[in-house]
Amino acid sequence: MQTPPLPEKIHPWRIAAENGVLNGTLALAALPRLAATLDDADGRVAIALTFGIDGQGFRFIQGVLCTEVALTCQRCLGPLRLALNVTVSLALARDEAEMNRLPDDYEPLLIPEGSGLAVVDLIEDELLLALPQIPRHDDVRECAAHSEVRPPEPEPDVERRQPFAALASLLTDSKRSH
Ligand SMILES: [Zn+2]
Repeated sequence: MQTPPLPEKIHPWRIAAENGVLNGTLALAALPRLAATLDDADGRVAIALTFGIDGQGFRFIQGVLCTEVALTCQRCLGPLRLALNVTVSLALARDEAEMNRLPDDYEPLLIPEGSGLAVVDLIEDELLLALPQIPRHDDVRECAAHSEVRPPEPEPDVERRQPFAALASLLTDSKRSH
């Protein structure tokens, strides 16, 4: 399937006035703040956004972002692949006063009229908001399965080995001195 190229920058006020759309995909690796929170940044996010002006005259961005992210389950520390289907419902606001007038079903996007916005920033912010605070497998049985196959933690192992190494060298020394 051919994916249309995404623009790097958009002018939200202008696109909303033109009832424009933003469709395409972005590599997760292109979103550095998001990628830093993931176990790996393989994969892409599919973007399907519509811009327009609603019946009350508010400029909106609505649609959906779909991706799958690799996280670590905080219950079993096993790998967790989480599908994210993020519903976007933003309204543009020029300033805080306008932001406060927006209906509750919109999330405000504070941006001066005529300003450009990097597409990666818009998408990254929405995905970061959608990430669970404490990612966990839905089913505790999945956690149990991961706990069984989990290899031992390397760090305590290293610490445990060091005193023995020291002891071994002491023994060698004492043998040598006799
Ligand atoms: Zn788990």
